[in-house]
Amino acid sequence: MLVVMCQQATPDEIDAVVAAIQAKGCTARPIPGGERVAIGILHNKGAMEASYFLAFPGVKDAIPVTCPYKLVSREFQPKATVIQVGDVSIGNGHLTLIAGPCAVESETQCLNIARKIRRAGAHVFRGGAFKPRTSPYSFQGLQEKGLQVLARVRDETGLPVVTEAIDHDVFDLVEQYADIIQIGTRNMQNYSLLRRAGQSHKPILLKRGMAATIEEWLMAAEYILEGGNTQVILCERGIRTFAHHSRNTLDLSAVPVVLKESHLPIIVDPSHASGRRDQVIPLSRAAVAVGAHGLMVEVHDAPEKALSDGAQSLYPEQFEMLCRHVRSIFDVFHSSH
Ligand code: PEP
Ligand code: MN
Repeated sequence: MLVVMCQQATPDEIDAVVAAIQAKGCTARPIPGGERVAIGILHNKGAMEASYFLAFPGVKDAIPVTCPYKLVSREFQPKATVIQVGDVSIGNGHLTLIAGPCAVESETQCLNIARKIRRAGAHVFRGGAFKPRTSPYSFQGLQEKGLQVLARVRDETGLPVVTEAIDHDVFDLVEQYADIIQIGTRNMQNYSLLRRAGQSHKPILLKRGMAATIEEWLMAAEYILEGGNTQVILCERGIRTFAHHSRNTLDLSAVPVVLKESHLPIIVDPSHASGRRDQVIPLSRAAVAVGAHGLMVEVHDAPEKALSDGAQSLYPEQFEMLCRHVRSIFDVFHSSH
């Protein structure tokens, strides 16, 4: 339930509602934004009585929240969340371009790619230091050395960096280096990892599980918000279907659904969705046209030699073209509002 206070409600009136919620053994969560204060009720067992709260001075409305996710929902927070990472804004009204190699391979490789993607217009550098690989024989990432390379990239280029924490054990270490911490598709329902992310002060980029419904994905985000971390960026990266003309099937319909259901920013990863370089630019254009707040794209300076995901990695010149295309699509989309 959401208790909406009148615009003129006094701090004492708000405190009285909070105390009443707590007295019922529930958690009271004030919701940011807007002109008036709203207080979300969490951890209630069963339905709450609206009339009970309506009797309090200063209460305008008490609205039952019907969806299973609370804190991530538009019902709880109508105002879109915009996440600030240094100078970079992610969310409503912004188009954030994240690019870089699948895996950090060396300092030279990363610096070279980072300079090129920055020149093309990227805002954030990506690169995996810990890689979740399907085969235990594949390259597993440079690990802490890779994180040090990312820190060097940030120092040299000024670009914030996003990298994945593949499990609970490495989370603390990744948190020390990353500006944004990625939780990958294979971990979307790793609840202890989600709880750890909920305690972090860093933004979390939460990829959609490759076989997860949108509701399951939003519930995964709910774990992070429930833990106290409200900075979650959702990332659609393709789901498993019967099709094999691409590695996964990019579910672009997820974008308008998430925009309607949630206030969180949503970006699209066309690289893991398609697995094929030739599909990345068209899917990126479509993702921006459908309303995504940004893209995460794999770019490599020598994709044929990449230690992972070379086939889906763009050449830097292709990324430059992608940036030009999506920027003009974004501008058309936004000037019509
Ligand atoms: C990645 O972004 O490097 C990655 C492994 O993505 P996903 O978790 O979507 O497969
Ligand atoms: Mn990859």
